[in-house]
Amino acid sequence: MPELVDLRSDTVTRPSPDMRRAMADADVGDDVYGEDPTVNALEEHVAALFGHPAALFVPSGTMGNQIAVRLIVPPADELICDADAHIVSYEGGGAAQHGGVQTRTLVAERGLLTPEALEPQLRPENYHTVPTRAVAVEQTHNRGGGAVYPIGLLKDLRALTSAYGLALHCDGARIWNAHVASGIALAEYGGLFDTLSVCLSKGLGAPIGSVVVISDEGMVTEARAIRRRLGGGMRQAGVLAAAGRFALEHNISRLAEDHAHAQQLATALDDAVPGLVEAAAVETNIVPLDLTVTSLDSATLAAQCRAEGVLVSAVGPRRVRLVTHLDVDDAAIDRAIDVVSRALVSAAAS
Ligand SMILES: *Cc1c(COP(=O)(O)O)cnc(C)c1O
Repeated sequence: MPELVDLRSDTVTRPSPDMRRAMADADVGDDVYGEDPTVNALEEHVAALFGHPAALFVPSGTMGNQIAVRLIVPPADELICDADAHIVSYEGGGAAQHGGVQTRTLVAERGLLTPEALEPQLRPENYHTVPTRAVAVEQTHNRGGGAVYPIGLLKDLRALTSAYGLALHCDGARIWNAHVASGIALAEYGGLFDTLSVCLSKGLGAPIGSVVVISDEGMVTEARAIRRRLGGGMRQAGVLAAAGRFALEHNISRLAEDHAHAQQLATALDDAVPGLVEAAAVETNIVPLDLTVTSLDSATLAAQCRAEGVLVSAVGPRRVRLVTHLDVDDAAIDRAIDVVSRALVSAAAS
């Protein structure tokens, strides 16, 4: 049987031989003492990419979001995000448990908040309300099918949050994909947010690591303290930071290939089963399949594909997700199209 084609997520990417060499050659020190030169250089580099003064290397995007949320929302106050946000879908209730933060969620088309939906929900400070302190957006939106927030919409959200004195956080796990798809500079995105969390371990291909980007240098000590409390203080983390630095240098512009592959998958699968996926809405590397136009449920489709060596994610009872990434080449895409469309067509015939 040929190698598996793993389209469950872009987190499954493995460090390449060149990346592993960069890791092996990294200069290291104790990062809890602030003495790892490779970590320090990565933090400075990522802060500069987004036009901010400071950044903090953390083990995961989840920890990055958790630290950022705690920097901008005091316990018992409120963070608003969309109802499908990673922060409320996939972080185990961490904002509530670790930060004592109340989240209020808005159902939003493809996960994208709008000022019109947001403004009526903002609550002023008042002893018997829960004051809104911050808003979080996700760029690109994971459960929104890799949707890219248009820059104009982000600017409007920034203007609104600033007018109300609120912080704006970006869960930028895949902001690199948004940057490549839109052509908007990372620094232009960065300038709109008080905090960002960006992943090195998704499509960029590093094995581990995210970075919290911080607009206020005064918050860095607090960010380090929260990271420590969460158990995220790492020692000779330069071996990991080196992978991140390698990923930033080599793997950003190639995300365009992943986007082209996603488009190819979406178009072919929609040809096989009309209405399954809106190819025009696939903007980056995520292809959401709506199985309500078929007789299949997502677990059945995922199991049939797995039996033929193609892995996809069931992200809802009738919703499947395919994610393209650097370990999926042209031949793998062709195979995935063949396997997934045969599973769909045989179900339609039965
Ligand atoms: C993957 C992801 C994260 C971080 O997830 P980890 O598994 O903790 O690295 C955060 N936000 C979004 C939108 C993601 O897709």
